Amino acid sequence: MTQQLIPFISQLAFTEQLQWLERLNERLSKSMSSQDRSYDTPIKVVHADSLSTLERSQCEIAIVANPDPSVLTDFPCLVWVQSLWAGVERLLAEIPSPTFKIVRLIDPCLAQTMAEAVVAWSYYLHRDMPLYLTQQRCQHWQQHSVALTNQRTIGVLGLGELGLASVEKLSLNGFNVLGWSRRQKSIDNVVCLSGQDGLEQLFSASDIVVILLPLTERTAGLINRTLFSKMKPSAGLINFARGKIVHHQDLITALNEKQLSHAVLDVFVQEPLPQDDKLWQHPNITILPHISAPTNQVTACQIVCENIQNYLISGKIPRSIDLSKGY
Ligand code: NAP
Repeated sequence: MTQQLIPFISQLAFTEQLQWLERLNERLSKSMSSQDRSYDTPIKVVHADSLSTLERSQCEIAIVANPDPSVLTDFPCLVWVQSLWAGVERLLAEIPSPTFKIVRLIDPCLAQTMAEAVVAWSYYLHRDMPLYLTQQRCQHWQQHSVALTNQRTIGVLGLGELGLASVEKLSLNGFNVLGWSRRQKSIDNVVCLSGQDGLEQLFSASDIVVILLPLTERTAGLINRTLFSKMKPSAGLINFARGKIVHHQDLITALNEKQLSHAVLDVFVQEPLPQDDKLWQHPNITILPHISAPTNQVTACQIVCENIQNYLISGKIPRSIDLSKGY
């Protein structure tokens, strides 16, 4: 019986690649043996380098994690490519007209991890932790009044997989929640907005603005001086999406001019953030090294393997990126 080979294309560290290969194959063999027998060709995920030209020409699916895009061109019959990441902005930028569908990781566990990060860093701003850190550094003892969560409004930009899980958790924590998306939405306990007017309304009304938008032609540089000028001077900004969505020079100017009070940044134009970047030293910026919602290997392998099995059994390609929208 011939084997169905799935190339793993990645520039991750070698040991990390081996871990992924082991976990994916373990998961595939476990679930194929428990499936009904409608698909009984053995499947194996293998490192792309190990495949011959003939084998490469027969591959329909590839699994990618930070791939070198030129490697994908060696696989002329790819039907779809499964990314192990929830965001595929870099892949889309590097392969603007793919001949195959691009499927990103949609993992409810990752959405919960992001929602947890949104709540955690919202509390960080809500309970004035940056201010107490500054006070500690100069040994200054001063108590400030505490607001209730229902006296705070948090605006979330992007109501997709990650935004939806986040607004739900914020609302359960008692915050007033506003959400903004391309299409108008209706979500319990969330005031849903759309369009430029809705965006400006959200910036004016929010105590904390959280960015969970994909990076597209429309969102690049979207958060700029015009929007900062609408913010409350006490408001905070959290960017957990992509660095290029925020105009960083405008952000620094707005912080210096006290148009907002603090920004928590997890994502940057260049990562790791270069040592000489001004953002590191700004007293009103908290820098995180892209940690808000990392892929979980266990749940990701489960989802990716289910996607592959469903495709092999039914021919159904999982939900893929809409290239006309860019996400
Ligand atoms: P998603 O499910 O595709 O949702 C995107 C949301 O953004 C949707 O609500 C969409 O509106 C909205 N949107 C897109 N373009 C818009 C525009 N021009 N104007 C207004 N709204 C717009 O994406 P997701 O899974 O939630 O992920 C969002 C992003 O998070 C990813 O693209 C990635 O960059 C980032 N991310 C970061 C980390 C991290 O660790 N920092 C981890 C994972 C992902 P509609 O609902 O109307 O389509």
